[in-house]
Formats: sequence, structure tokens, C-alpha cells
Amino acid sequence: MNEKRLSKTEWKRLEKDLCRSRRSVWSQITAKDRKKALLYSDKYKDFISTAKTERESVNIIASKAQERGFVPFEQAGPGSSRVLWTFRGKAAALAVTGKAPVSDGIRIIASHIDAPRLDLKQNPLYEDLEMAFLKTHYYGGIKKFHWVARPLAIHGLALKEDGSAIPIEFGEDPHDPVLTINDLLPHLAHKVQGKKKISEAIPAEKLNVLIGGFPLLGPEDLKDGVKLRILRILNERYGLVEEDLISAELEIVPAGASRDVGLDGAFVGGYGQDDRSCAYASLYSILELKEPQVTSVALFLDKEEIGSDGNTGAKSSFFEVVLYDLMRHGGLQIEADSLVRMLIVSKAISADVTAGIDPDYKEVHDERNDALIGHGVCLTKYTGSGGKYSANDAHAEYVNWLRRVWNDAKVVWQAGELGKVDEGGGGTVAKYLAQRGLDIVDAGPPLLNMHSPFEVAHKTDLFMTYRAFDAFYKADE
Ligand code: MN
Ligand code: MN
Repeated sequence: MNEKRLSKTEWKRLEKDLCRSRRSVWSQITAKDRKKALLYSDKYKDFISTAKTERESVNIIASKAQERGFVPFEQAGPGSSRVLWTFRGKAAALAVTGKAPVSDGIRIIASHIDAPRLDLKQNPLYEDLEMAFLKTHYYGGIKKFHWVARPLAIHGLALKEDGSAIPIEFGEDPHDPVLTINDLLPHLAHKVQGKKKISEAIPAEKLNVLIGGFPLLGPEDLKDGVKLRILRILNERYGLVEEDLISAELEIVPAGASRDVGLDGAFVGGYGQDDRSCAYASLYSILELKEPQVTSVALFLDKEEIGSDGNTGAKSSFFEVVLYDLMRHGGLQIEADSLVRMLIVSKAISADVTAGIDPDYKEVHDERNDALIGHGVCLTKYTGSGGKYSANDAHAEYVNWLRRVWNDAKVVWQAGELGKVDEGGGGTVAKYLAQRGLDIVDAGPPLLNMHSPFEVAHKTDLFMTYRAFDAFYKADE
């Protein structure tokens, strides 16, 4: 074949016209947006430093929303355009009513506000060799070695028999002592740990939190003085007795605030960015949202990390309660099929993080199809594992709509999936919402260190996630 050789200019033009470029967010946004990205990250760091449990997240979301004119649904009049729901203190929703009737469909961004951690068992406190410890049961997918030999804090709630709820937070104030879980010294670890698989080296029953070491002074023949002193401190400080720990939800989380990472401060490092990075981005966009065309909802769900089961997760009736309330609020006559009919014309984003390619572990990634750090919010058409099992697989038409919305709004985005096909995978809330017939796709920032006590996100990816959610709510079509 007699093919004409292209000039360099022709080559470059063709490349520009036909290929999708992969450039970093930082290199293609304006100086003004670079500044905004840094300011956004500062506010975000404050959020993840204080919202370390689902209950704390709900409290912060509800108070920020009320400051910005959102009214709890029970108090909302027919004219209220900004409405707030909280559910059992662990899930929340915000809605801004649109110009179009809700029967034409709504926009939903669903994120989750639970994160992997260590929960206290129901009978946590014991003494051994004159030290007091708390027994734990881990929540969500953790690598147990991440949780030993590091400062830890306790956050949560205990209920006294009279019904009074006692919030507990300890280990965050720089003047507070912290808690920790001890690990075995390397000198003695050769057999007990060194020859085992990394997943078996630290059994869950050894994730015991050190909480005390001064025995109460009393008659010499009485035992468990360290435990008794800890109970006395808990009683003096919070009014608790040991049985109150049974009706408690106490979570062991990494102590301390989130931090900038890197000499240039390009990253945010901190606990719970899966998925509070998305929760914050959707909160930030819906708080700013005014008179959208389409009624817009931000859902903040619990229990995603353990399969979305339970009455505060994506499978629970909370979602339906919010939707029925919205339909009534929008003046829609409720008939047997009105919820389904509204949902099948609705659009949603399952707002969740994905894995960024770690240069040290490229072998688990498909570099052409996984998310690059610093390259913007990542759209994940399908989740699941092992041949799209348990996946939500978004429709091409919907992906096409969203890419048009994002391109029009100059959102820097990328498309990626979570790791090589046979390597593993993971799910999100997308498939549970998809069962109700709406269009839904996953999107969120790529993380490094996901599910560790110190997850790392690029500031521009966090910012572009906010921009992407904002554009989704504001799109008129
Ligand atoms: Mn997640
Ligand atoms: Mn997760």
C-alpha cells in the first residue's frame, strides 16, 4: 500500500483530534482553581479530623446544613426548599427542591460515612499481668498490622440504664493520653509472626487496646486493681458502670488530625477518607446549591464497609423514607407505583473512592484502565469482582450523559476500575440503589493506602470530586 508519510504537525494534529490525553489536573487548571483546590482541602481536612465516626459525621452534616437554611423534615413547611433528614444518628440526607416536579426524576449522590476501624466488644475491659486492656472486633476490611504500635483514640457513645446518652471521645486533645495496641518485638517474632502469612501474623484476638497500668491501692489479697481503677475513672468522668459498656458503640480510631503530605503539600493524609472525601464533596456542593432544575439529594449512608446491611445502610428503608417524604413534599399523589416511576427516570452517583495506581504495586493494576493519582475524579462504570460479579454496570447512555455534563463544566475526570480483573475488586452502594431502577454510576477520588489508618488523597482529585458532584446537581438537561 502506497501510504503517504505524515508530517510531524499532521501527526500531532491527528493525535490531538483523536486521542484522549491523560494530563494531571494541576497542569491544566487555572491559577485561580489551583488556589481554590488548596482552600477546599483545608476545609476538608477539618472535616475528616473531627468526623471520625458515622455519628460524628451526621452531627456535623446536620449542623452545617441547618446553618445554611436546611430544615428538619418534620418541621419543614410546604414552602421549604431545603430539607434535612437524620436517621438513628448514623445516616442522613439533604435535599434541595428543583423547579421541575419530582415525578420527572431526581438527582441523588450517595456516599457512606462509616469507615474501617476497631469496635469494642460488649465485655471489653479486662486485666492481665497488671495492665488493663479493651477487647476489639474489627469492622470492615482492615490489614491488622496497620493498627498496632500507633496512637489510637476512642470515639462513640455509651448509654446508661436510665437512657441518658454519654458521648465519649478520648485521645484527640494533644494533652490527653492516647491508647495503643502493642506488637511483638522483632527479637521474639521469628516463629510466632515471621513464618506466617501477613494476614495471619496478628490474630484479631490480639488486637487488645492498652488502657491502664496503675493498680488501685488496697488490701494485698484483692485482684484486678488496674481494671477497677479504669472503671473508677470511667465512672468519675462519664458516670458509667461496667454494664453500660454493653449498651455502647465505642470505636477505636487513629488518634490525631489529618495532615498535609509531601514537601509541596500535594496530598492529604488522614483517616476515613474512604468515604468521607465523597461525603464532604457532596455536602459541600449541596450546601451551595440554589434553585436547581432537578430536585437534588445527598444521601449519607452507614454500614457500606460491612455490606450495606442493617437499618442504617443502603439496603435499609431509610432511602425509601426520604423518597416518600420528598414525593409528598413535592405534592406528588402517592400511588402504588409512584416511587418506582419516579426512580426509573432518576439519576444517581454512587460517590465512593477507588484505588489509585501505587507505583510500588503496579503489578495489581492495569495501568491503562486504573486511576492515576492527581488526574481527577474517577468514573467507574462497573464495580464488583471476578467477571463483574456483584457489579452495578452503568449503561453507556448514562455514562455518555455524565461525561457531557462534566466536559461542559470543565471537570477533570478519568475512567478507571479497581485493579486487574483477576486480582480482587470491591463493591459500593451502587448495586443496591440500582435495584430500584435508577441510573447510577460510581465516581470519586483515587486513594493510596485505602482502608489504612492513614489514607492518602491528592488535593486536586478531592477538588475535582467536588466539581464533578456540583456539575451533576446543576446540569439542566
Ligand atoms: Mn467506600
Ligand atoms: Mn471501603
